[in-house]
Amino acid sequence: MNQENKGKTEYFAEAVDVCVVGAGHAGCEAALAVARLGLSCVIFTMNVESIAMMPCNPHIGGSSKGHLVREIDALGGEMGKNIDKTFIQSKMLNTSKGPAVHSLRTQADKAEYSKEMRKVLEAQENLTIRQAEVTEVLTETDEAGKPAIRGVRIHTGMVYPCRAVILCTGTYLNARCLVGESITETGPGGMQRSTFLKDSLDKLGVATRRFKTGTPARMDGRTLDYSKMKIQEGDKVVIPFSYSTDPATVQIEQVPCFLTYTNEETHAVIRANLDRSPIYAGIIEGTGPRYCPSIEDKVVKFAEKTRHQVFIEPEGRNTNEVYIDGMSSSMPDDVQQRMYRTVPGLENCKIVKNAYAIEYDCISANDLKLTLEMRAINGLFCAGQFNGSSGYEEAAAQGLIAGINAAMQIKGEEPLVIERSEGYIGVLIDDLVTKDNREPYRMMTSRAEYRLLLRQDNADLRLRKYGYRVGLITKEEYDYVCYKEAEIEKEIKRLKGIKVGASPKVQEALKALGSSPLGTAATLAELLCRPELSYDKMELIDTERPALDKAIREQVEIQIKYEGYIERQKKQVAEFEKLEHKKIPEGIDYDDVTSLRLEARQKLKDAMPTSIGQASRLSGVTPADIAVLLVYLEKTTVEKR
Ligand SMILES: Cc1cc2nc3c(=O)[nH]c(=O)nc-3n(C[C@H](O)[C@H](O)[C@H](O)COP(=O)(O)OP(=O)(O)OC[C@H]3O[C@@H](n4cnc5c(N)ncnc54)[C@H](O)[C@@H]3O)c2cc1C
Repeated sequence: MNQENKGKTEYFAEAVDVCVVGAGHAGCEAALAVARLGLSCVIFTMNVESIAMMPCNPHIGGSSKGHLVREIDALGGEMGKNIDKTFIQSKMLNTSKGPAVHSLRTQADKAEYSKEMRKVLEAQENLTIRQAEVTEVLTETDEAGKPAIRGVRIHTGMVYPCRAVILCTGTYLNARCLVGESITETGPGGMQRSTFLKDSLDKLGVATRRFKTGTPARMDGRTLDYSKMKIQEGDKVVIPFSYSTDPATVQIEQVPCFLTYTNEETHAVIRANLDRSPIYAGIIEGTGPRYCPSIEDKVVKFAEKTRHQVFIEPEGRNTNEVYIDGMSSSMPDDVQQRMYRTVPGLENCKIVKNAYAIEYDCISANDLKLTLEMRAINGLFCAGQFNGSSGYEEAAAQGLIAGINAAMQIKGEEPLVIERSEGYIGVLIDDLVTKDNREPYRMMTSRAEYRLLLRQDNADLRLRKYGYRVGLITKEEYDYVCYKEAEIEKEIKRLKGIKVGASPKVQEALKALGSSPLGTAATLAELLCRPELSYDKMELIDTERPALDKAIREQVEIQIKYEGYIERQKKQVAEFEKLEHKKIPEGIDYDDVTSLRLEARQKLKDAMPTSIGQASRLSGVTPADIAVLLVYLEKTTVEKR
């Protein structure tokens, strides 16, 4: 169907509910969520060969990122399942520390990961994949006089009418890649960049900014000497990411990584050529992530360090390409050749792909609601690197939430907002939307106040109910979590209720378990608190126990051993939720709160927080301002009565 628009002939594709712009880690989760919730969806990508492409490190998970993957899976997302089918090495990190920081990290076969995700998209009902560049976001004025989504236009001129758009353009928007003085106007890995959308966003008044990130070189693994490195093996028994993966299917032959180090010679090559680094020559405009520094940054900022870790990570089973983790750079090619060859084991290395830095346009998520919808444009949702975050897992988590909320809005159902006390996804989105992030935001356990409650081992107990509420989790999956919760509670009660005395049988068992003899009678729960004892080991003493799933036994042990800390954190959460559940009316006029300081009033007007809790996290809003606001809300509520 054709229609005039400002003299341009518009021709239309079939209308759909949601258009997802981008098939990276955010776009894939968003589109699958929308389609699985029964709505029609088109997912656009510049190149279908780049679906769920991993342009940077070949790993999924790791500290705090593993928590995100588990939470995505608990809510009904795809990343956990996809990596369980395509990993080549798996390791539970930080097992010598407490469970709050245990985190699964897997090495992915990048090509297989992308292929598998494409298969899932292609098999998904209600979902259409379209290779095309989206050049324009189209809006109309809704009844309330506010801009609202009506569709997108692609480079061919075709218009796709829809009711919501989810922008997940990643590192492609106006991207340029830098290797020393060589600058190419492409997206990651030489992919075509996305050019026209920026102008459309400008016209819609969507502010953008320039960020950058970088990646190391890929080497031909046959040219490395692994005898000079330390092998890094995966776990003997692999634990899957997804709750729906049968653990038996992930006990596969794994591929090792290797550890080596830079040295003073490496650092000397870099120092001698800093003037040719686009970062230090001031050619790069974008702001980079402090927590993923380039090797140049490490040498300059940590000059006292004589060496930096370098992990050699295979990119897949069917390629010789290896990823040089820890040495991302944008140094000129000749410098890269010299600097990498100073590293033990890389003396004869051959570069397959240069290290490079990439600059791209993205938004500030301060312009979004906690649902990831743009405050100024109804139906426009944003997710992933486009929101100013960095990382596959962070992108996937946002994509899932944006997809769910676009669907909830179209269905007229309640949106999903995960709170900081419920999940790392809540911390991620609240930090992006509420805090003033001036560089790519990367998740870390230290960002989560309640990390002892937000463990990777209990993501299902925390979030399955929400996945079920929105419709992504089946009744059967939900029922299992309810059963699991009840069994955990029952077993903890049983262990607290059974007292054992210092009988010879008990003393013998304790001796066999390397634990000190009992002085006086103790409950099984008290015994379990002994660091050297575990739930499974105590079978010697607790012989009448019920047969329970491994996952239930794991929870019983953690909840008993860390009970004190967990209870204390639960009290903190109760305090936190008092302010978090103190909602601020949507249409509040902060100019009416006359006793508010000017700076605070401006910050509140810009951010329009939904709760006192969120308001208290805005930079520039003090506890005194919050007190003024609370009095004002109390007064206006009384007057309304
Ligand atoms: C060089 C480099 C280095 C990186 N280094 C790190 C790092 O050190 N640590 C880290 O955590 N993360 C790093 N990342 C980031 C990581 O890759 C991203 O976080 C992740 O890929 C983001 O996922 P996404 O879905 O938001 O976007 P992407 O994976 O970038 O996907 C974007 C998608 O949007 C599509 N697209 C874009 N514009 C349009 C358009 N107009 N029309 C149609 N389709 C469009 C593209 O085709 C693509 O499918 C790096 C990325 C790059 C490129």
